[in-house]
Amino acid sequence: MVKEGALANRCPPGGQEGVIRLTKILQHAPTNLDVTRGPERPRPVAVINPMQCIGCTLCIKACPVDAIVGAPKQLHVVIEDRCTGCDLCVPPCPVDCIDMVVQSPDLTGWNAWSPTLALQAKNHYQTRKVRILREEKDLLKRQTSKAAAKLKKLTLEKPADSKELDRKKAIIQAAMARAKEKLNAPSN
Ligand code: SF4
Ligand code: SF4
Repeated sequence: MVKEGALANRCPPGGQEGVIRLTKILQHAPTNLDVTRGPERPRPVAVINPMQCIGCTLCIKACPVDAIVGAPKQLHVVIEDRCTGCDLCVPPCPVDCIDMVVQSPDLTGWNAWSPTLALQAKNHYQTRKVRILREEKDLLKRQTSKAAAKLKKLTLEKPADSKELDRKKAIIQAAMARAKEKLNAPSN
């Protein structure tokens, strides 16, 4: 919100109380929850129907707090304590086998959360971000090292067509430069 100017009224899980708190912190004018993003509601958790899950892994990729475990072509399961009820795993599921089950029938929005739950969710979100960044960097390092090996091989080749060889080398060098730039880029 601070960096990209997103509005402070687009978080249904926090409800109207969450909007009030966010607008105060951001020093925005008071506003109401934007219900086009979802209504204020009790806090749910996701539950996967074991008879229907095809193990496509799409829900794992969508979950911002690593609350789903599973492997390709295996049944996936939600870790209930981690699930924030954000719904983000529901749309990608190709067989529509994820149900959102209410956990706090009498409490909605901000009141459905405890500070402990909110802190846990924040920690899980940040841990996932760090893991994804580390995995992306590891992949870039592996790709760079493969490219370096290929470049070395090309350098040792006796070219039948030196222009073509130079073209290939330039492509690899450019890819390595881009990878280096990404590796050295500051993480947010
Ligand atoms: S509802 Fe949100 S937190 Fe819960 S499993 Fe789905 S994506 Fe993860
Ligand atoms: S998206 Fe649906 S089908 Fe795919 S692994 Fe998740 S729960 Fe199973």
